[in-house]
Amino acid sequence: MLTKKTLQLSLKSLRDFAKKRLPDEELIALDQRDECPLEIVRYMSNPDKLGIQLLFVPEEYGGLGGSTFDVYLICEQMARIDLGVATSLFATFLGSDPITFGATAEQKKKWLGRIAEEGVLFAYGATEPEAGSDLGGLKTTADRVIENGKIVGYKINGSKQWISNGGIADHYTILANTPAGPSWFVVDAGTKGFAHDKPEDKHGIRLSNTAALALNDVYVDADRLVGGIEGQGLLQAQMVFGYTRVMVAAFGLGAGWSALDRAIPYSTKRIQAGSPLSEKQGYTHKLIVPNVCRLEAGRAFIEATAERIDAGEGNLQTEGAIAKYMSTEAGNAAADASIQALGGYGYTHEYMVEKIKRDVRITTIYEGTSEIMEMTISRDRWQLHLKTRGQHYHELARKVEALHAAHPNVGADVAALALHGLAEVMEKARAARLTRHQHILLRLGELIAYAESAATLARRAALKAEGRINEKANDRFDATAQATISRIFAREAAMKVAQDGLKCVVGAGGVSDAELPAFEAALGLSAIHRSQAGLLADMDYVAEVLYGRAQKRPAEQLTEVALHS
Ligand SMILES: Cc1cc2nc3c(=O)[nH]c(=O)nc-3n(C[C@H](O)[C@H](O)[C@H](O)COP(=O)(O)OP(=O)(O)OC[C@H]3O[C@@H](n4cnc5c(N)ncnc54)[C@H](O)[C@@H]3O)c2cc1C
Repeated sequence: MLTKKTLQLSLKSLRDFAKKRLPDEELIALDQRDECPLEIVRYMSNPDKLGIQLLFVPEEYGGLGGSTFDVYLICEQMARIDLGVATSLFATFLGSDPITFGATAEQKKKWLGRIAEEGVLFAYGATEPEAGSDLGGLKTTADRVIENGKIVGYKINGSKQWISNGGIADHYTILANTPAGPSWFVVDAGTKGFAHDKPEDKHGIRLSNTAALALNDVYVDADRLVGGIEGQGLLQAQMVFGYTRVMVAAFGLGAGWSALDRAIPYSTKRIQAGSPLSEKQGYTHKLIVPNVCRLEAGRAFIEATAERIDAGEGNLQTEGAIAKYMSTEAGNAAADASIQALGGYGYTHEYMVEKIKRDVRITTIYEGTSEIMEMTISRDRWQLHLKTRGQHYHELARKVEALHAAHPNVGADVAALALHGLAEVMEKARAARLTRHQHILLRLGELIAYAESAATLARRAALKAEGRINEKANDRFDATAQATISRIFAREAAMKVAQDGLKCVVGAGGVSDAELPAFEAALGLSAIHRSQAGLLADMDYVAEVLYGRAQKRPAEQLTEVALHS
């Protein structure tokens, strides 16, 4: 675990490095040339230079042993600089994950030690032309090579697709089918029979090298089988999903904020109809404020999940999925709105928001698509709904109501309405067997993500008010602003559960005409509608905070608001 001071120093050196070596003009030029700045990636991985990867490597293997919380903040910072370069560094981390979590002690010492001491680059080779979201469709094989009755090695055959660092890595972790099932192997660049294709011509993250791999009778010694036991590959991959998805969530968050942090200052200078855009409610309340609230809801979930992983609560796959889903969807929407916020300039290559929008698009695809996240979230919470006979979200709502009693300003009452409504939608879906429709199952995943995020954001706003928030947590907003953001998001979540929940249940024939009024009442529709009161005033206040115009609200302590993190 890093001290706050060490972490802040690392974040600062990253920012300083980016300012010097990767200014906007350079990033735009590299993007236009479709070029991966390998020298920069190597410099950032070099333990004698920036040594970013040291944060990922446990202390016992020569790294700094950063916590999940530390790694989230570093990932957010890297994404604010460039998502392509961030992806390249992340690929080494992802590539070494099967080793960190599944390898023998000897293998860990060797490979993690080399990452820490030599800054070698890894790539993570899971995806194949016919196996993407469903890795069960894996076709690459690893056949045993047996001598004197003993397995001495493996011959790997197959192909991999869209592998980050595919053309530049020193080592690759490759998922292949052994006779006992999928297993990870470490393969060196340059091994006979191992080749990579030319870099893909991509929509975004053009500074990241992505390439297909071909493996033709690639021989590796038996000690390259990660963990030394065949058939553990999918398990080893799943063991880290909570953790790795929190990182991609941080990518969405960093990229989304990076776009908004360009739109916000732009709007203070751009005069239209006699005044700056930043003073026009129709502009700020559509393009800026809602995106800020959604990004901060994502952040709250990332921070809460990172803390729980660090506290040893396990892999938290579902929570990682919610964090990724909310933050990457919010990052995409924020970047898109930032193009709109810059008007014609936003649509040109010269202004970074256009590049950020293309870059951030990948975050809802890699490391599990948004639809796979919806499915993961929904399936897991559906089990909880069944196990508790429909009480899971009612119980959570009651806890959030108790929070409201202690902190009436953080939007917990409205988050509770969202949770109660969700419980009712799920119960109706159970009674009418609606989850046999995959569409309903996945839409429930979205509603769950929104309702849980609202509750989490309210809880964090309360912690902030009590001064008990993690000392490393992002402190861009003070307690009053955080509470206001939480109230806005809670209203959105409650409306979403009510409207989309109704759409799903009625649309799939889950209620008859006669039953509808009772269902609407159970959903708490009128309370949810009434909870929208005060929305505009709250949006006004967040806009004032973002533009540094906030006045002290009576009876509320307003500490200094940092405009730029
Ligand atoms: C730039 C880039 C970098 C990448 N880096 C790596 C890397 O380093 N290592 C690696 O192993 N992979 C990498 N990938 C691959 C990435 O993880 C996959 O693209 C992703 O998992 C989706 O798989 P797919 O592309 O085969 O899409 P598919 O799985 O075919 O999905 C296509 C669409 O169908 C939806 N879908 C899929 N299954 C279902 C279902 N059951 N129900 C409903 N909808 C469904 C998806 O959500 C998606 O919208 C990278 C991809 C890109 C583009």
